[in-house]
Amino acid sequence: MSDKNTHVLPLYDRQGNLHSITISAELWNRVGRKVAPLLENALDAMYPTVEQPEPLEDWESFKEFWDFRYPFNAEVQCNCCGAKTEDWEHDAAKPFRLTNANLGGLLVFRCKACGATVRKKHFKDHICYEHTAVCTE
Ligand SMILES: [Zn+2]
Repeated sequence: MSDKNTHVLPLYDRQGNLHSITISAELWNRVGRKVAPLLENALDAMYPTVEQPEPLEDWESFKEFWDFRYPFNAEVQCNCCGAKTEDWEHDAAKPFRLTNANLGGLLVFRCKACGATVRKKHFKDHICYEHTAVCTE
């Protein structure tokens, strides 16, 4: 494409309403890095994610029926970005969001710093952390 007017092409429907805009690859390669975050933010605003409330009743049950061979602790750490709290329940900064707690010994959190899913697995004798990173970097 060499004509300046062919890089941005609006597409209209039969009623004459703007339907979409096509941007040439050449132009996108020049502005995409700057424009993409704006589009991402606009899409987030158009499609807000509805977060489920934290399952605090399950958390309470988890503590109530504790039967592991070591004392309960509410420590949570993210091995992806290094975020950590000594006491998830009482940490005012709330670096992790509880998404699941079950009596089998699994606690699942979302790290607010990097977005990773953090699984704190309780076994009879030890605790194991796993994470699934969602960040693309
Ligand atoms: Zn993290």
